[in-house]
Amino acid sequence: MAIQNTPATAVANGEPHIAPLDASKLIVNLSKTLKPLPTTDDVHFGEIKTDHMLVMNYEPTAGWSAPEIKPYGPLSLDPACSCFQYCPNVFEGMKAYVGPDGEPRLFRPHKNMERLARSAERVALPPFDTDALLVLIKRLIAIEARWIPAKPGHSLYIRPTIIGTRPALGVAASDSAMIYVILTPAGLYFKGDAKGIPILAVGHSVRSWPGGTGGHKLGLNYAPGFLPQKIAAKQGYSQVLWLFGDDSRITEAGAMNFFVVVQRDDGDLDVITPPLDGLILPGLTRASCLELLDAHTQGKTVLPNIPASTRLHTHERILTMHDLIAWSAEGKLLEAFCVGTAVVIAPVGRIGFEGKDIVLPTEDTGLGLVGKGLWERVVDIQGGRYPWEDWSVTCE
Ligand SMILES: *Cc1c(COP(=O)(O)O)cnc(C)c1O
Repeated sequence: MAIQNTPATAVANGEPHIAPLDASKLIVNLSKTLKPLPTTDDVHFGEIKTDHMLVMNYEPTAGWSAPEIKPYGPLSLDPACSCFQYCPNVFEGMKAYVGPDGEPRLFRPHKNMERLARSAERVALPPFDTDALLVLIKRLIAIEARWIPAKPGHSLYIRPTIIGTRPALGVAASDSAMIYVILTPAGLYFKGDAKGIPILAVGHSVRSWPGGTGGHKLGLNYAPGFLPQKIAAKQGYSQVLWLFGDDSRITEAGAMNFFVVVQRDDGDLDVITPPLDGLILPGLTRASCLELLDAHTQGKTVLPNIPASTRLHTHERILTMHDLIAWSAEGKLLEAFCVGTAVVIAPVGRIGFEGKDIVLPTEDTGLGLVGKGLWERVVDIQGGRYPWEDWSVTCE
């Protein structure tokens, strides 16, 4: 679905034409020299950039400029631009995978475009045609296809970004903007057999709050998390589990959605994640996991290595640290894992809370039955090895 609202400045006759984002106007300027591909897996996430980037600008009187694919390089911006001062900056995180046929594929990319449009709207950035941007991203991926690592689970990470470029200090919505898209090859954050990570539950600093912006992918949501993250790392924890409220409600872990698996008395399993109440970023991986778990229980598919008879009951409901402590004491807390595009599914080994650790039974083995089944299925769908609905799309 295209989200293309008429900009507020567009008026009938006599007024300048406000150009919509038009993929057919794409200008391609290829780099004369190409960079060598990385020869090792041992690179930090996001450090290596590919040869090209996609850039387009919005001006209030002209609308969207012709989009351009050009050699990757620095941007030139007025130092007064609102992105540097008031942070109307939004982004997406998606990945391109290479399928068994050698074709680059994207995973549910329309969902990323819709979320990007919602994020832009939240900070009053100008609207854009989401279908046109996706066409342009596919062109960029096709040009950069040699950068997609062929190893299973490896991918090319895509970072679409919109920044407010209004070059004035007035505290107001940015009526100018730039969309740019950059690419970086990505290995596996966590392998399917990685051990569980330790995470620290933090309630004194909050990531999001009712009426706030935690449900949108805005740059301004992340910097305030860096200090608590640093403090947690000093104590030996690799991520912060963000709590909210006097009842120590769990929201998310780092920049990932959070799930637990709980044994039921009837032998089935409950799979629980916090609800989308505005404090939670509506992750595509989260939504995909919930849909796959439901499909397993409804007999529409069988998740790898999970018996078809094992019913997985999904719940989007409030989850507190006290719930986790109680289930852990009763031996019912079977798994905890974090999900997101970068990690796919990351196992949690222990959760620090008020000076004690809740230790998961899968601490040493990593992903448990449900986490592993999801990880394998999601990675197979992304890589085009397991067709599922219209989730995996080629870049034609
Ligand atoms: C991006 C992000 C996620 C994961 O979303 P996906 O669409 O699954 O990648 C979760 N939480 C936060 C805070 C995020 O920024």
